[in-house]
Amino acid sequence: MALLDRAIVSALPAVPKPIVRRISQRYIAGEQIEDACRVVKGLNAQRKMATIDVLGEEITTEEEARHIAYAYDDVFRAIDEQALDSNVSVKLTGLGLKLGRDICRRNLERTVRGAAERGNFVRIDMEDSSCTDDTLALYRELREAGLDNLGIVLQARLRRTLDDIAGLADLTPNVRLCKGIYIEPFKIAYHDFDQVRKNFVDALGGLLEGGSYVGIATHDELLLTEGARLVKEAGRARDEYEFQMLLGVREARGDQLIQEGHRLRIYVPYGEEWYAYSLRRLQENPKIAGYIAADTLGRLIPGRNGR
Ligand SMILES: Cc1cc2nc3c(=O)[nH]c(=O)nc-3n(C[C@H](O)[C@H](O)[C@H](O)COP(=O)(O)OP(=O)(O)OC[C@H]3O[C@@H](n4cnc5c(N)ncnc54)[C@H](O)[C@@H]3O)c2cc1C
Repeated sequence: MALLDRAIVSALPAVPKPIVRRISQRYIAGEQIEDACRVVKGLNAQRKMATIDVLGEEITTEEEARHIAYAYDDVFRAIDEQALDSNVSVKLTGLGLKLGRDICRRNLERTVRGAAERGNFVRIDMEDSSCTDDTLALYRELREAGLDNLGIVLQARLRRTLDDIAGLADLTPNVRLCKGIYIEPFKIAYHDFDQVRKNFVDALGGLLEGGSYVGIATHDELLLTEGARLVKEAGRARDEYEFQMLLGVREARGDQLIQEGHRLRIYVPYGEEWYAYSLRRLQENPKIAGYIAADTLGRLIPGRNGR
């Protein structure tokens, strides 16, 4: 399977862009903010919350980083004007992390303050392991500066995650817990599927015990079941945690979570950089290409809904 996934990924650049676009359409709201708002409105109508991500992490100039930070102003304004139930997710590389920590901090702080003025919330996505230390440090700096409308992401794939939970405990962080999309070296990351799952469950237990609000971000059936069991065991009320899923993935299971009484937030990326984003995500983790191929095929074969 891994070989097939890699084969799909290496063939991708040869696939005509319109076809990639059609496939990506399920996972990316579109190019413009209006596209994101339309998608979020539809999700809200299904009682699903959202988090909007402005695409564009491979920026090379300060100007581009500022452009992304400013795009979030428009997002906050649109959320308010249209009364959408959505917060935002940001990537620190998009805000200039690789150009300079100060540039990134400035853009991040501006975005978080902009959100605070409108009573909104910013979550910092976690990128590959070259960004982990800086991301955690910037998160701490801003929280210590009194910006509480800020959350972070931790990745169960990383061996360090339980230590990071302990290290952040004094902040009672609002955490999105996910497996982690980036394939990392064995030295710092679990490669075994069941070990990643076990670390996820351990991390979730630790976060709940520490009083953190947790976004349980997974489509993995075992983790969805375990997550629901753990929040119940911890006596969490409905508004003291949430499940999170990616746009277009396991929608029927998301509906079911809502019917069961949980809250669900959907990750809604949009932006002109959709093509680069799609290719990069697939190259980072060829397994995703396998999921998408299976899902697309599932939808083409009558009787399978691919969810
Ligand atoms: C809301 C949200 C935010 C995230 N933020 C981050 C982040 O900041 N940093 C980070 O490193 N990772 C992030 N991720 C990605 C995450 O780390 C995983 O790579 C991804 O969720 C797949 O892992 P899984 O737990 O769903 O389990 P898996 O075992 O990988 O997937 C379970 C099942 O879900 C389906 N599936 C999963 N992903 C897809 C897909 N893309 N397309 C089609 N079907 C799919 C497949 O049917 C698969 O069998 C996020 C995920 C979510 C849901």
